[in-house]
Amino acid sequence: MSARPKPPREFTFFPVVNFITGPPGVLRNGGIWKSIKRGIIHELKLSTIMTQVLHFVDFNLNEKSFNEWFKDGKTLKDWIIQENPTYSPILFADSGGFKLLYNREYDLSKYQLKATPESVLDLQLKLGADYVASLDYPIPPGLNKKETNERMEKSIMNAVRLMELVYDSHDVDVFPYLAVHGRSYEEIQYYVKRLFNLLEETGFNEYSHYPFGLAIGSMVPIKNHYELIVEIIKALKDTLLEIHSDPEKIPIHVFGISGRITPFMYYLGVNSFDSNTYVKAAQNLQFFVSYTQKKKFYTITNRDLDLCPFCDCIRGRNLQKAKKILKSKSYSRYILNGKEVIKSDIYGIIALHNLSVQLNLIGELKKYNPKSREFKEWLVRYANSDNKLLKVVAKLSTIDEDFIDIATKFKLKLPKLSKGQFYAQRISLKRDPTKFDITKTPYSVSPEKRVILILSCTPKKPYSKSTTHKLIFRYLQEHGVDIKKIEKVTLSGMYGPVPQDFEKETSILEYDFVLSSRTPEEQITLVSTRLKEFLEVHAKDKWVIAYIGGGPYRKIVQRVQKELNGKVSIILLPDETQLKRRVNSEVRKKTHLKTLVATLKGLLKNY
Ligand SMILES: [Zn+2]
Repeated sequence: MSARPKPPREFTFFPVVNFITGPPGVLRNGGIWKSIKRGIIHELKLSTIMTQVLHFVDFNLNEKSFNEWFKDGKTLKDWIIQENPTYSPILFADSGGFKLLYNREYDLSKYQLKATPESVLDLQLKLGADYVASLDYPIPPGLNKKETNERMEKSIMNAVRLMELVYDSHDVDVFPYLAVHGRSYEEIQYYVKRLFNLLEETGFNEYSHYPFGLAIGSMVPIKNHYELIVEIIKALKDTLLEIHSDPEKIPIHVFGISGRITPFMYYLGVNSFDSNTYVKAAQNLQFFVSYTQKKKFYTITNRDLDLCPFCDCIRGRNLQKAKKILKSKSYSRYILNGKEVIKSDIYGIIALHNLSVQLNLIGELKKYNPKSREFKEWLVRYANSDNKLLKVVAKLSTIDEDFIDIATKFKLKLPKLSKGQFYAQRISLKRDPTKFDITKTPYSVSPEKRVILILSCTPKKPYSKSTTHKLIFRYLQEHGVDIKKIEKVTLSGMYGPVPQDFEKETSILEYDFVLSSRTPEEQITLVSTRLKEFLEVHAKDKWVIAYIGGGPYRKIVQRVQKELNGKVSIILLPDETQLKRRVNSEVRKKTHLKTLVATLKGLLKNY
């Protein structure tokens, strides 16, 4: 048997890669993933990769193909090496906790999988994973105290169980990462102490004999709350310092976070992190022009391309050609830069370029000692033009006076610290808006659609079969509006924006919830936050019409209108002055429908 893998010694990035996208082998299928896999296995030869243990579920893999992958003890890693024998990456497999225990709509019985530590480790071993994470119960922001405690306790038990499986009963050569969850300094402190107490009770007190890493989860929902991310990482480091004799030995991984906060994770002593941002951005056609900035692919020019091998394929005239291919049918074949490509290959090129940009930043960071004065100066310069990052510096300056010094030297005034209100909300999982969230789902409005038309949701599902939606669209068609140029987005009281192509998803078809004057404020906030984020990402070069007669839905649109402050202009119809009663049935009236037709025709006449 080979030796137990060692944890990463330097700051390490694990890009998330989906390998099992259909029947084997590795490069046989996967759309955008197919080109990403090819780029990673043959060109980048990345030494570290995160693969989510249940990713194949998203590709509807059937039982027969599942068994084919793992026939005669063959692992996913064996398949990868078979594709390129000179390449053998370190594979980190997460636990699938999010899928298993949070979204309950997956049917895993056809793969003989259960939500138990044993079953998860078994699957991680089938993948040929080197690092394995313990089965964890993510804690959504705002979950009430009782459910939070239950979830934390289960995650702690599963972490201890993984240690027993790895070191006692299975004795397998993998390196275990124990998941850590908590949404505040205190919760993390409590969690880590309880975990270490139990490890000691079960006989895992000698770290050099039973090494493990810690992996912080539940971070994705707070990925934009930099101050909170910093607080949670700091809580973990502080607690280890308090309870462990050699805390620097324990590697710390952060699940699912990258982006602008990355250099601060390095400063705080995080050893590794993973992220799928590079591909999510590509799926929305966002092209990284630097680590902190991205542009829509349709708007980039040759000057935005860099020296990565993937930009080489789209340089010069090929850039226009690539943009054209994106507008073509899915499987039409083209020649680009001497190679045959299809549409999804262009998405792949964007993803791989984005990934290269992220890898460049890691290279840049590793030139510095994270504790050095030189690096702290680098951080302040990096944060300089971004108020959110400056707040992080301000927060760190309360524990590291060097930052005050440096800010003074740079003649920089650090912002006042805000008290986050993020955790004031309390929701219950019984009403579960996480089952569908467009802001976390790959999606982009196709270029030929010029107008986003927002309607409120209906009790009847799918929405397009409801009397109101049918009536509106029939009226538009009969009056000569080209509905192919319209992207209908329904505002759901449960999930926020639902674009027309998602109407038939199970989670959308099955919920039964309409906003009313009695709906708790946090649900209203959730819907309006998602609508705002949605419009910020997808409506930059579109017209937006909200055709909503009244009630909380209309109020949400007005609120978002105000918050966006002109960044996206939303035409709210019927107009306030023409509205007799503020109820949604108003949208069925002829006078208002006529105004809608006239407005749409006006906007679309040049397209
Ligand atoms: Zn590039």
